[in-house]
Amino acid sequence: MALWITDECINCDVCEPECPNQAISMGEEIYEIDAQRCTECVGHFSEPQCVQLCPVSCIPVNPAYVETQEQLRAKYHRLQRAAVPLGAEAGPASDAAADAAPVPAASSLPASA
Ligand code: SF4
Ligand code: SF4
Repeated sequence: MALWITDECINCDVCEPECPNQAISMGEEIYEIDAQRCTECVGHFSEPQCVQLCPVSCIPVNPAYVETQEQLRAKYHRLQRAAVPLGAEAGPASDAAADAAPVPAASSLPASA
């Protein structure tokens, strides 16, 4: 299930920056959770981070969004794919160094008589 924030929220701002899915945002009066983005932290952490941090324990599960672990993990993968910017694949790094001519070792001049 996704989680939701009850009206006991005191707007302490603690949970919002800790959500790995950017599912928490300020609503009209209190913080809200976007159920389409909340995975209960599946894929990131073993426990819901917002629940761990909330000082007033106002983040229960949302009974309107019943999801299995498999569905939460699928949501996690969907969010990860959506987060990858187009053309972000990295090419091989070209090594343009090593232009300098090798420095000859200091030679000892032959002694001439
Ligand atoms: Fe975000 Fe995790 Fe809380 Fe869901 S349970 S709102 S993913 S911190
Ligand atoms: Fe509200 Fe709890 Fe989030 Fe603080 S941690 S903003 S009280 S839901």
